This record gives sequence, C-alpha cells and structure tokens, in this order.
Amino acid sequence: MRLHEYQAKSVFADAGIPTPPSTLATTVDEAVEAAEEIGYPVAIKAQVHVGGRGKAGGIKLAEDGGEAREAADAILGMDLKGYTVDSVLVEGAVDFVDELYVGVTMDRGAGKAVTMVSRKGGVDIEAVAEEDPDAIAREHIDPAFGQHPFQARKVVYDADIPGEVSSDVTKVLSTLYRLWEDTDASDAEINPLMVTSDGDVVAADAVLNVDDDALFRHPDLEAFEEESFEDDLERKASEYGFDYVRLHGNVGIIGNGAGLVMTTLDLVDYFGGEPANFLDIGGGAKAERVTNALDMVFSDPNVDTVVFNIFGGITRGDEVAKGINEALESLEEIPKPVVVRLAGTNATEGREILNTELVQTEETLEDAVQRAIENAAEVTNE
Ligand code: GDP
Ligand code: MN
Repeated sequence: MRLHEYQAKSVFADAGIPTPPSTLATTVDEAVEAAEEIGYPVAIKAQVHVGGRGKAGGIKLAEDGGEAREAADAILGMDLKGYTVDSVLVEGAVDFVDELYVGVTMDRGAGKAVTMVSRKGGVDIEAVAEEDPDAIAREHIDPAFGQHPFQARKVVYDADIPGEVSSDVTKVLSTLYRLWEDTDASDAEINPLMVTSDGDVVAADAVLNVDDDALFRHPDLEAFEEESFEDDLERKASEYGFDYVRLHGNVGIIGNGAGLVMTTLDLVDYFGGEPANFLDIGGGAKAERVTNALDMVFSDPNVDTVVFNIFGGITRGDEVAKGINEALESLEEIPKPVVVRLAGTNATEGREILNTELVQTEETLEDAVQRAIENAAEVTNE
C-alpha cells in the first residue's frame, strides 16, 4: 500500500519528524479556508501517486487568498500523468535555503535495509543515483541489530551534511528508520528534507509504502487503505480479492498465476503492445471469478482488447473454459475482443469447449499476444 503524502506526513509527524502545518482539502473553498487558517504563503499540492508533481504543475505556491483560489482551482480536477486530482494538501510554505534527501529502502541484493542521505534533495533521486551515485551516502542496516546510533551519524557525515543541521538530520533519519521497521514498510522517504533559513529541518514531502501482506499487523495504517486507492478500479480489485496493478496501455491481461501474468506483460511489450494492467485471478476458475476479472478489465476505459493466459494445472483447462464461457455468456455484450490462450492439463478439451463465437482462441502465448495487439490496433483505428 502506497500512502498518500498527507497520510505519510501524519505518520511522520506523529513519530516526531518536523512537518509544515497542513490541511487536506477536496474543494476550492475548503482549500482557501485552510490557507487562511494556516497563513500565507502556502503550498497547494495535488494528492496523487505520481512522482515529480512539482514539474508537472501539481504544486503551486500562493501568497494570498486570490492566488490560493486560483491554484486550488487549477489543481483540483486536473489530470496529472493520467490521474485525476480529487484532493490537495494545503501546507504552510517553507522558507528554505537547502533541500536534502533522506530515505530508507530494502536492498534486496544485500538482504538488508539501506539508509540513504544526500545533499541533492528536491530532485528525482533515481536520476541522482544514475548521474552522480557518489552524491548519495549509504549505510546498510543489519536486521538482527537494527540501526546503531553511530550508523545514522556516519551516513549523515558521509553525505557532507552541513554541521549546523547534522544532528537534526541524524535524528530525522533515526526516526525514519524506526518507522520503516515498525510499519513493515518497503520504502520511507523524505525528498526534500528542507533546511529553513532559521537552520531547522522540515519534511516538505513524504513517501511511505507499506507491505500489503503485513497490513494486518497495523490496524492504524489499514484505516488509510480506503483513501489510498488511486481509483475505483483499485478499490474494486481489493473487494474482489485480486492482485491488480493498473498500467496505462490498452491490452487488458488476465492470467491464473503471477508468473503467467508477468510473462504475458513482457510479451505484450516485446511485440510492441502496451499492457493495460496486471491481473492475477489466482487458482481456480469459477465463472464468478472470471466474470469479476472481466468486469475489472472492461471497466478500464483504456482497454481495447483482453488476452487470457491460462495454464491448466490443478484447475483443469476444461473447467477454466466453462468458467470463461459462463462469464462471457452472462454479459449482455462483450465490449471488446477477447483472446484466450489455454495450455496445460486438458487444454485441448478446453479449447473445444470454448465458445468461439465469443472468444478467439490461440494455442501459443506468442500467437495470442500478437492477436490481441492486432485487435487493439483495429479498435484504435475504428
Ligand atoms: P514532488 O515533486 O511530487 O516530489 O513534490 P515535492 O513536495 O517534493 O515538491 C517539489 C518541489 O517544490 C520541492 O522540491 C521544492 O523545490 C518546491 N517547493 C518550493 N517551495 C515549496 C514549499 O514551500 N513547500 C514544498 N513542499 N515544496 C516547495
Ligand atoms: Mn518529492
């Protein structure tokens, strides 16, 4: 689960990390009211899960009520890299002299957490890592011991953080690591950690991604889940119990197993198509599950075609075929062409059962994916 900035900030603030005063608003009037209460200047920030909101026009500063109204009006409802903004965070603007970076993530290669500090905050840290890797100081943390205080001091020192703020930055990093560990997070990040003209540090942005499978251990964070969904599709997927990730292409993908779905995504990309989603319906293939999966994929307006990648195993191919038939027959109309690749146990029987008036069938995944891409191209050209 990826928390919104305002949610992550409230978690950080509760843990003692300095953050600017802020209020969430969903209407222009609410935003202006919040700005009046906080006092100008304010920053008005789109609450969507995309990086680089600043550059994309999702963050504006306002000096007075008129500007706040204008900024909130411009940002609320705007399309930011494919997402519609339905709330903004109104926040006291920070009078800053420097922007730093502080983060904790999992280094899978090392099998350990890694803490990172850099003076090059306020810009895309992935770009810094690529262009100037030495600008990011790193320190691995052994999970058996946790973060030793000297390790936090060391990485701050290695990053050449100015002496005036080094102890504050160390404190922020220690807290951030503790939060990362306590919340079963995959990433915790402050970019930028601003240095104010008074020599204080303030978290101007906040990222906290928590492992979905650990959410049951964090009832307080679970409460954020409903609002953390980016759109109705993600909410629907959670209700249906599917593993679903929305992408932004036009080829809908459904498979029974994460590996099969990933392979399909890769092949769609390989053959020059663009996947619309990752959707794993898991084991079994009861008609209801297939119907729900189709409902999900067809609810995405970008989808021009759907490809099923089914491998019969414990669930036999003929059962899956029945499920797909029933699901498709239950629809009043099939809005976009559906291609099915069926392999594995009882695949031949399954393909015989499939209602070819409703679906196209292919024996190999390569053929199925290419057929889907052709379908999508035809739909697009219509
Ligand atoms: P992101 O672009 O989505 O990562 O959003 P950030 O919250 O990190 O903001 C982007 C940039 O806005 C910052 O790095 C600052 O350079 C700039 N900015 C200027 N003034 C302010 C301010 O008062 N508050 C915040 N949050 N950002 C500001
Ligand atoms: Mn940021």
